[in-house]
Amino acid sequence: MGRVFSGIQPSGELHIGNWLGAIANWVRLQDRYDCLFCVVDLHAITGKYEAATLAERTREMAIGLLAAGIDPVRSTLFVQSHVPEHSELQWLLTTLTPIGELERMTQFKDKSQRFESVPAGLLAYPVLMAADILLYRADLVPVGEDQTQHLELSREIARKWNAEFGGGEDFFPEPAPLLTQAKRIRGLDGEAKMSKSLGNTIGVLESPEEIWQKLRPAKTDPARVRKSDPGHPEDCNIYSLHEQFSPAATVATVAENCRGAKWGCLDCKKVLADNMAATLAPIRQRAAELRARPARVDEILHDGAVKARALAGETMAVVRERMGFLKAGTATA
Ligand code: ATP
Ligand code: MG
Repeated sequence: MGRVFSGIQPSGELHIGNWLGAIANWVRLQDRYDCLFCVVDLHAITGKYEAATLAERTREMAIGLLAAGIDPVRSTLFVQSHVPEHSELQWLLTTLTPIGELERMTQFKDKSQRFESVPAGLLAYPVLMAADILLYRADLVPVGEDQTQHLELSREIARKWNAEFGGGEDFFPEPAPLLTQAKRIRGLDGEAKMSKSLGNTIGVLESPEEIWQKLRPAKTDPARVRKSDPGHPEDCNIYSLHEQFSPAATVATVAENCRGAKWGCLDCKKVLADNMAATLAPIRQRAAELRARPARVDEILHDGAVKARALAGETMAVVRERMGFLKAGTATA
């Protein structure tokens, strides 16, 4: 059975872009692969963050994943910082990674603009991601399109390590991306990718009222200034969201009513809000049940970390040996 690894940052709420682009895929893959899913808290501190709420956000992200259908019996669900080998392997891999490669990453270019003084951690972020994946020698990585460039770098790092230290063996498989058909969901601004850190999201766990409050002012086709102006569904983010949340017949009606200026954007959004709320209702319900049992959630994460640590330990024993480190001695009397 092939192995799957993927992660999500507890940098904000689990949003519909994460869900459609990645998490829904994670849920499906559990039947066919040996899956490890990780709340990547070490990644979430690469920007400015609030230490006081990190632990709670980490648990809340795990609750979102469990509610969305990650099954801790079939899959290993854990928190990145609970397995220290992630940081260890990252350091070893930074020694193989050219700075130029890191500097040309689109996400680094984007995110570094938000800082006056750019933290080195932001630059090294894709090396930690490579470590996350290679630590478990995963074959497949279900992610959104925004991560494909990082994943390509992980493949290069794997190739480099194999060439230098593999001793003729491809110890690290080259991890391949697995995209969904909704690989890039745009945010409520209608342009940028929906991102936790951009505040242009709709949360998977939001109430119907909150969903409506967010959809109401969301950007639509700019050609529709007045209700009587005909629209272009292909230019409208609300239409793309209908394609994800509404039945096919409704999607066809939406396109027709938009092109023919038969209804206003608010009418269109109301239908979307109802369908979105209905789709997400069971996830919200399960999250509420889990929130009432935080100790159970922590226990699931503990069990996951134990399983992950065992695998990580096996990989690191080989890595340390192949890279030539002196083995730690045992105590003598
Ligand atoms: P941040 O803004 O802090 O980077 P994020 O919203 O990009 O947060 P991540 O935790 O970085 O979320 O990514 C989790 C997963 O969700 C990744 O697989 C990523 O590719 C996917 N993803 C993130 N945003 C989108 C999106 N707008 N459309 C599709 N997939 C997405
Ligand atoms: Mg991201």
